[in-house]
Amino acid sequence: MTKQMKRPELLAPAGTLEKLKTAIHYGADAVYIGGDAYGLRSRAGNFSFEEMAEGVAFAHERGAKVYVAANMVTHENNEIGAGEFFRTIRDIGIDAIIVSDPALMQIAAMDAPGLEIHLSTQQSAVNYETLNFWQEAGLTRCVLGREVSMAEVAEIRQNTTVEIEAFIHGAMCIAYSGRCVLSNHMSNRDANRGGCSQSCRWKYGLFDLPTAGNRELVGKGEEDEDIDEAFSMSAVDLSMIEHIPDIVENGIDSLKIEGRMKSIHYVSTVVNVYRKAIDSYLEDPENYELQQDWVDELWKVAQRELATGFFYGAPTENEQLFGERRRLPRYKFVGQVLAYDPETQMATIQQRNKFKVGDTVEFYGPGMRHHMETIEEIWDEVGENIDAAPHAMQVITMKVSQPVKPQDMIRKSLERTRRKAVQK
Ligand code: SF4
Repeated sequence: MTKQMKRPELLAPAGTLEKLKTAIHYGADAVYIGGDAYGLRSRAGNFSFEEMAEGVAFAHERGAKVYVAANMVTHENNEIGAGEFFRTIRDIGIDAIIVSDPALMQIAAMDAPGLEIHLSTQQSAVNYETLNFWQEAGLTRCVLGREVSMAEVAEIRQNTTVEIEAFIHGAMCIAYSGRCVLSNHMSNRDANRGGCSQSCRWKYGLFDLPTAGNRELVGKGEEDEDIDEAFSMSAVDLSMIEHIPDIVENGIDSLKIEGRMKSIHYVSTVVNVYRKAIDSYLEDPENYELQQDWVDELWKVAQRELATGFFYGAPTENEQLFGERRRLPRYKFVGQVLAYDPETQMATIQQRNKFKVGDTVEFYGPGMRHHMETIEEIWDEVGENIDAAPHAMQVITMKVSQPVKPQDMIRKSLERTRRKAVQK
């Protein structure tokens, strides 16, 4: 099998304009956002047309692209206004839309010619015939279903010329690529129209229903049999940081990070790590080695344990969160650097969470620059010496021992416990 070594795109989520700028600043080649309509993240802080225009200008100036997710399942009348919406975002300069419903694809093709269409993961494309079908229908890229294995990726790549996009990091659905009505049932919020309430991750009690049919089926007595421990049906998160060579060699064109609802702390950290890993591999594939530093960095923003999803075989019970979660390292995002004066070594910082004199914090920036700092003194905006920065978005200054740059981030460890890796 011929291996391919094309530079893949690193594609990051951007729920807001601030996240879009952060993702690109930290090295994303492209971002995906949501508009006010037709997306699957009705609660993700979607973009107005004005914000899209500003985001597109920012991205294009830096050689990055912006895609708009319009991947809802459209019931009758949901599609009203879609043609105008697609025309408007095409004219704004959006590089492509991500769509799963053929109705919206047809509307986009007819009403907004020239606007590229990518197939959403919601269509569960996991074989090359399917990808070829969508390519013939005029689509330029297909996002694979998360259920595809690396061996299947290799086969798909050999048999199609359409661009392939695959998730490499972030939350997994317990259902088949999001085809789930659990949220609809539990909270009356439609997961396929942007309302998923993550019901699979709630805590459930397990008990044996005392129905005649059930008793017969499981051979239990009349009494309910409660099981003490609460359980959820949540899957652990995906992380492919340990398999960058496999991803690149198998010709995936776009490496997608999940999470339009995630914070700038999360987006900057995850993009930073994958940017570094991809660039290191492409620079010198022969001598490439995974750095423990990159893995540790991802764990600092991990919300669940990390595993490789379906890429190397079906997930086992170790990749499901049925019971209590194992402890993860916890970090708090405390601020962002606004400016730095190299002469005085003073950094101007915007507070995002409370920090105080005496705290040890970590500064980090693009290129995986990071250093630790113990805060000795801080000053407020009028130059008053203060003990703590308790107010949201408060601007303070402090002396730092190493140079920092605008948009560097500051985090603080909340505990000393170390991660426990998923047992394989
Ligand atoms: S409830 Fe869980 S499985 Fe269902 S769509 Fe939401 S995240 Fe996916």
